[in-house]
Amino acid sequence: TLSSEDEAYFDSYSHFSIHEEMLKDKVRTEGYRDFIYNNREVFKDKVVLDVGCGTGILTMFAATAGAKLVIGVEQSDIIHHAYQIVRENKLEDKVKLIKGRMEDVDLPVEKVDIIISEWMGYFLLFESMLDSVIFARDKYCTDTGVVYPDRSTIHLALLSDEEMYKERIEFWKDVYGFNMDCITKEVVREAAISTVDKAKIISRDVVLKDIDICRCSTSDLQFTEDFSIVCCRDATVHAVVGYFNVHFQQRCNKEVVICTGPQSTSTHWKQTVFLLHHPLKVNKDTASQTQQAANIDEIKHPVTMQAANVGQIQHPITMQAANVGQIQH
Ligand code: SAH
Repeated sequence: TLSSEDEAYFDSYSHFSIHEEMLKDKVRTEGYRDFIYNNREVFKDKVVLDVGCGTGILTMFAATAGAKLVIGVEQSDIIHHAYQIVRENKLEDKVKLIKGRMEDVDLPVEKVDIIISEWMGYFLLFESMLDSVIFARDKYCTDTGVVYPDRSTIHLALLSDEEMYKERIEFWKDVYGFNMDCITKEVVREAAISTVDKAKIISRDVVLKDIDICRCSTSDLQFTEDFSIVCCRDATVHAVVGYFNVHFQQRCNKEVVICTGPQSTSTHWKQTVFLLHHPLKVNKDTASQTQQAANIDEIKHPVTMQAANVGQIQHPITMQAANVGQIQH
């Protein structure tokens, strides 16, 4: 039996709209498709497990690419449609769909060669479905098995967006003539999901975390990281922006990367915005390459920013558990 939290989670995936949104996200779905169709030799005659198969899209890509058997596991009721979809596309000989939680089901095979899954949540780890993929990997993958995507990275950059700051923070100073400023303390604790304008990114991109999906453990997903970000121009910082990439690399002739950052085509994950309570003036890193020492001093400014804001930034970046209640759809 499922906890009420799990029940609500899987219920959300029984509705068509969420699958429609995912399928129509071209960066996402075409990323998986291109990886599978352009690396058919990876799939040829292999036994593949699709963790959380939803409508069966990834399962059908893998079956079409030449897999011997694709097993799709899905807890939510959308699987009743997936059964029919697989039949109507004449893939039932190569596909076996199983309704249930990955952690509870019995598979018809002992081991699989490949796991595919689209498990990513907002800012990568919100929803934490990766735990189920790790469970499946440790239980079912052969010694030479691979999980795709096989690598993911979490990134941060700085945003200067006065308008957004006014709308989300200064708004509370005067609400129909009343001062509600005390609420801003809470507002900055909640990450917001929105697409940011890449022209307002004023820093380089910093990789906060690089996760090897074929090897990581669930404890690697609970972390606090220090980071420093180098600004590209003099500016006022209003927010830290978070996003992620996933890579299909191992054994691939044609590598695929799905990017969800502000510099790339927008996806349904958008970006995750951590507003700063107080805007922060920063200076451009002006050092040239011949001035290494000077360079380090220059970078210190944003590093000091990190210290100043640790209280705010740490909360969301101490991922998962702490964050789950915070990022709302
Ligand atoms: N693979 C599909 C759906 C991705 S969304 C696609 O690419 O379009 C993730 C799916 O995984 C949801 O349908 C969700 O219900 C399912 N899911 C998440 N955790 C699961 C678990 N532990 N066991 C079974 N299904 C799970």
